[in-house]
Amino acid sequence: MTARSADPTAHGSDPGPGGDGLPAAGPAASGLRRARRAEQLAQLLQRASALANESADTDTAFGQAVRDMCETMVWPAGQALTLGEVGQLRPAGPVHLQDRRHARSAERLDEIAATGGHPADQVVASGQAVWIRDLDADGQDADAARQDATGWLGFPVIADGDVVAVLQFISDEESEPDEDFLQTVGAIGRQLGVLVERNQARAGLENLNEELERSNRELEQFAYVASHDLQEPLRKIVGFAELLVERYGDQFTGEAAEFLGYVIDGAHRMRQLIQDLLAYSRAGRRRPHLGPVELAEVADAAIADLQTAVEESGSAVTVEDPLPRVHGNASELRELLVNLLSNALKYRSDSDPRITVRAARQPDGWWRLTVADNGIGIAPDQQQRIFEIFQRLHGQGRYEGTGIGLAICTQITNHHGGRLWVESTPGEGSAFHLTLPPAAELSENSDG
Ligand code: ADP
Repeated sequence: MTARSADPTAHGSDPGPGGDGLPAAGPAASGLRRARRAEQLAQLLQRASALANESADTDTAFGQAVRDMCETMVWPAGQALTLGEVGQLRPAGPVHLQDRRHARSAERLDEIAATGGHPADQVVASGQAVWIRDLDADGQDADAARQDATGWLGFPVIADGDVVAVLQFISDEESEPDEDFLQTVGAIGRQLGVLVERNQARAGLENLNEELERSNRELEQFAYVASHDLQEPLRKIVGFAELLVERYGDQFTGEAAEFLGYVIDGAHRMRQLIQDLLAYSRAGRRRPHLGPVELAEVADAAIADLQTAVEESGSAVTVEDPLPRVHGNASELRELLVNLLSNALKYRSDSDPRITVRAARQPDGWWRLTVADNGIGIAPDQQQRIFEIFQRLHGQGRYEGTGIGLAICTQITNHHGGRLWVESTPGEGSAFHLTLPPAAELSENSDG
């Protein structure tokens, strides 16, 4: 990085009296000044890296960096300018005036910001620090009181390889910035750039999350409205088709009776699909209260719900004790278990159905709840698909259903912050696993 001077007379090696207030002459004095300068630069860099690590808001960090520079270098005024989307420089905050006697310095910086940023635009164009010994050298402000500081220094903040901001200062430095100084401001600019990158990444992620939530809400709303509105015309189709059979059934013979049967079957099935879609969208809109739940009680209730099916299928359902207490919602978990257990009953093989419910503590403290069966099993390449809405592996003729159960189970698991998956070997059986948070480690009043 090199400094450039807009004033050709500015180049020279005369150290001159600096902002540090030390005398200009004498080897001892200049050694002292060098040592003090090195200390100042180290301090500045340290503060900038602390800022980059701690500060959440970019503009606040820029403002603090400007204040630190002015205080440490004893410069009259400073300000951060950020580069807008169309390349114009705008103040990131008000001018910091280090010393009230230098009010004119603040005005100069304001003027630079107000008139399109020149000479800060040189910093943007070069990506490097720019030093101007005398802002008035071009005669624009030749009448200004000469006791005012008229030097100017700007250096870039660089994020992802681009200049995103310029820190500009009025300084009373008489000599061109040396290599140490340039390296320091280069490093400060990069530190602040890291902060900008981090904030941009975070903002990007937040936007993406908001967008995702919005589109999910829209989808749920759409599913709800569509399924709700479809019910009415369907009710008419079913009602009148059934009326036809009831009143004129004897007039339908042969193919006509067969076709009418298909109409009624199809309408019933559509009604079931719409009801399931409604149930799914309602489940998605739920924000259930989570609290301590005894899984043993939930499992008993779910098995009781399915008592008839269990008895009819001659199944053995075993709950392995003790099921834990988890952080969850009892009615959602009961619905989930009813779905998993009824699938285990439905997709049984020829051998005597055996179903097990068990829980195991995971290394991270969460619980893994498992519903395992010795049923028909699921082919490995289908084990993801079944969790999607309306995805089924078998035709209606063989097993009844609409493919909604596991989609609702996924929603319920998501409400609990957990994960649902299956392990299965075709012909041997399936084990559906889900993770649930433990009750003890979370506040009992928490809403999750
Ligand atoms: P449905 O049972 O109404 O079809 P689900 O969403 O509950 O809907 O299940 C989706 C598909 O996953 C089922 O059609 C079935 O093919 C498969 N499946 C679910 N549970 C089991 C199980 N325990 N054993 C074998 N296959 C299963």
